[in-house]
Amino acid sequence: MTKIRDVSVTNVVAVAEGRRPRVVIIGGGFAGINAAKALANSAVDVTLIDRCNHHTFQPLLYQVALAVLTTSDIATPIRGVLRHARNVEILMDEVVNVDTKHRHVILGSGLEIEYDYLIVATGSTHSYFGHNDWEQHAPGLKTTDDALEIRRRVLLAFELAEREALAKGTHPELNFVVIGAGPTGVELAGAIAEISRLFLSRDFRHIDPKQARTMLIEAGPRILPAYPEDLSIKALTQLRRLGVEVLTGTQVQDIQCGFVLVNGGERINANVTLWAAGVAASPLGKMLGVETDRRGRVIVGPTLNPAGHSEIFICGDLANFVQDGGEVPGVAQPAMQMGAHAGRMILQDLRKEARTHFRYFDKGDMATIGRFSAVANIKWPFRARWGGLIAWFTWLTVHLAFIISYRNRMSVLFQWAWTYLFYLRGSRLITGNQSLKGQQKQQPTRVPLSRSVLR
Ligand SMILES: Cc1cc2nc3c(=O)[nH]c(=O)nc-3n(C[C@H](O)[C@H](O)[C@H](O)COP(=O)(O)OP(=O)(O)OC[C@H]3O[C@@H](n4cnc5c(N)ncnc54)[C@H](O)[C@@H]3O)c2cc1C
Repeated sequence: MTKIRDVSVTNVVAVAEGRRPRVVIIGGGFAGINAAKALANSAVDVTLIDRCNHHTFQPLLYQVALAVLTTSDIATPIRGVLRHARNVEILMDEVVNVDTKHRHVILGSGLEIEYDYLIVATGSTHSYFGHNDWEQHAPGLKTTDDALEIRRRVLLAFELAEREALAKGTHPELNFVVIGAGPTGVELAGAIAEISRLFLSRDFRHIDPKQARTMLIEAGPRILPAYPEDLSIKALTQLRRLGVEVLTGTQVQDIQCGFVLVNGGERINANVTLWAAGVAASPLGKMLGVETDRRGRVIVGPTLNPAGHSEIFICGDLANFVQDGGEVPGVAQPAMQMGAHAGRMILQDLRKEARTHFRYFDKGDMATIGRFSAVANIKWPFRARWGGLIAWFTWLTVHLAFIISYRNRMSVLFQWAWTYLFYLRGSRLITGNQSLKGQQKQQPTRVPLSRSVLR
C-alpha cells in the first residue's frame, strides 16, 4: 500500500491546546455514517450534521415509490445507528456554508461549529441540465419525500382513470414516461410496468391497468450505459418482456404538464413523467472554494483531500477520485469505503502515522428490472455476468445484507415475501394532494344504472 507523509497540523494544534480534536462530518449518508463508525469511541469528538434525522438506503427508494416498501423500511434514525458511539453527537441542521480559512461550518439555524477536521459527504442531487422548470413536471428520486411524491402521482393516475371510466365509460390512454435509462430509470420503468400488469390488475373495475403504457426514454444508444454491453442487452430483453417500451437515441427537448417533446418536436403524452437522467454534486462542494469538476464534484488527491487542505476529506458522491485512469463511480460501495478511510486517516494522524492512499475495492454492480429479473456484473469474490433469476436473487441478498438495521431487514424480508410470493403490495397509499397537474377536472356527470361494475 502506498503511504505519504502528510500528518495534519490540525491534530498538533488540538493537542497543544490540551483538548481532543473535533471532527465535523457533514452528511449522514453512506459515507458520513461509515466515517462516524470508523471514529466511534476513539480519542476525538465528532459532530455529525445532517439536514434529515435519518439515513436513507437509496438503492431501495424506488420500491417505496412503487408501493412495495414503506419509508420506515429503508430509512433509519441516525441517532439509532450511532447510539453506541459515545464520542459522536448528532445535529439535525443544514450546512449553508463553510469557512475553510477560520475552520467553521455555518448552519441554517445560525449556529457556527468549529472544526479541526472536516469530512464532507453531502452526496449528489438531480440535475435538469439547466432546465430547472422541468422538475415540477418530472420529479426525480433521491429522498423519501421524492419517493412518496412519485407514489402519489403514479397511484393517483390510475384512480383518476378509474373515475373517468366510470363517468364516461372510457378513459384516455394511461402513459408513464421515465427519462434516463441508468439503473434508477430501469428500476422505475420495470416497477411501473410490473405494478400495472401484476399488482393493480385485480384492483380496478372500470379500467384495465394492464393497458397502461410505460416508456423509458434514453438519449444514448443503449440502456445501462455503465454496464457491459451484454448485460444491457439482457436488461433490454427483460424490460420488453414486462411490456416497457424502450426508446433509445431519443433526446428530450421539453417537458410540460402532461407531455414530453422529443427529437425535433415529437409529442409523447404522459400522465406521469419521472426524471432519472442527470445527477449533479451537492452545492456544498463549490462553497469550499476548492477545485471542482463540471458536475460540481470536488477533485481530491490520493488521501481524499482537496488540494491545500489536509484537514478536509471529501467522500462519496461529492468526490471526484481517479483510480487507474478512471473516475470512481458515484455508488454506495465507494461512498462507504471512502467514509471509513477518512475516519481511519484521522486516527492515523493521532498516532502520528503516515496517511495511506485510498483504493476503491470494486465488488461489482447490479440493477433490478422486476420480479425475478435483474442483471449483475459480479467482480468479487468471483467474476460473473448474470441476467434473470440468479441475478435477481443475488440482488435481493446483497441489498438485504446492506440494509442498516436488523429490524428493517426483517421488515423488508416480510414485505418482499408478501409482494413477490402473494402478489400483494402493502403500501399503496395516496397521501397529500389528491389532484394531478394536467389532468382535467371532472365535469358534473350522472352515472347511469346501466353502467356495470364488471368490466
Ligand atoms: C434512487 C437511487 C438508487 C440508487 N441505487 C443504487 C444501487 O442500487 N447501488 C448503489 O451502489 N448505489 C445506488 N445509488 C447511489 C448511492 O445511493 C449513492 O452513491 C450514495 O448514497 C452516496 O453516498 P453519500 O454518502 O455520498 O451521499 P448520500 O447517501 O446521498 O448522503 C448525503 C447526506 O448528506 C445530507 N446532506 C446533503 N446536503 C446537506 C447539507 N447542506 N447539510 C446537511 N446535510 C446535508 C443528506 O441529507 C444525506 O443524508 C442509488 C441512488 C439513488 C438516488
